[in-house]
Amino acid sequence: MLNIAIDGPCGAGKSTIGKLVARELDITYLDTGAMYRAVALYVSERGIDVNDAESVRRLLPDIRITYAGGAQDKRIFVNGNDVSLAIREHRISKMASDISKQQSVRDFLIAMQREIASQSDVVLDGRDITSNVLPHAQFKFYLTADASERARRRHSELIAKGSDVDYDTVLRDIVDRDRNDMNRPIAPLIVTEDADVVDSTNMSIEQVVAYIVDKVRQG
Ligand code: C5P
Repeated sequence: MLNIAIDGPCGAGKSTIGKLVARELDITYLDTGAMYRAVALYVSERGIDVNDAESVRRLLPDIRITYAGGAQDKRIFVNGNDVSLAIREHRISKMASDISKQQSVRDFLIAMQREIASQSDVVLDGRDITSNVLPHAQFKFYLTADASERARRRHSELIAKGSDVDYDTVLRDIVDRDRNDMNRPIAPLIVTEDADVVDSTNMSIEQVVAYIVDKVRQG
């Protein structure tokens, strides 16, 4: 199976780019961050603190994540409920980052991610895909951009979705989440030696997509 792994910090454009790369190559796209968000949402809706590792671990067997829709406009469901929009709420971002530090949550989701990658040609994006989930992926990219540029992009995205969050909050959040994701003991966000680093600060989405697709087509 063709496996393309994309990692990078939040707001680097991984999901936008991952989706477009998948469309261009006519393969599946899987946003692994959405899975962590879905678990965080489910846990918080049950009134459980996402940092309460034992209670979270006990809830995991109740969680069934499924997808519907086409390869690129996939919607994500938890136990039959479409959570595609709810997981994008600003408050869920921090919860997802917190819950993703727990080994039980990672084991649960990584098993699903590997299963999907073993059954279909996929673009997977996340934080530990190149290092941990698919260390033998044929193509590995680390997508990044300056924090201020990532905050600007994420802020416009949230405003377009009707949120009234201000830029400084988004920037602070991005810096905090980077620190969280890069310094955690389990599966931290790292640049693997064999990953192709793409800094998109001064690149358009189309340029990044073309760069990745070219690399893949060249083999
Ligand atoms: O990519 P996104 O910002 O939606 O991911 C939400 C959070 O999920 C991240 O901040 C990160 O902590 C966590 N995550 C992870 N491993 C992945 C994907 C996401 O730990 N493969």
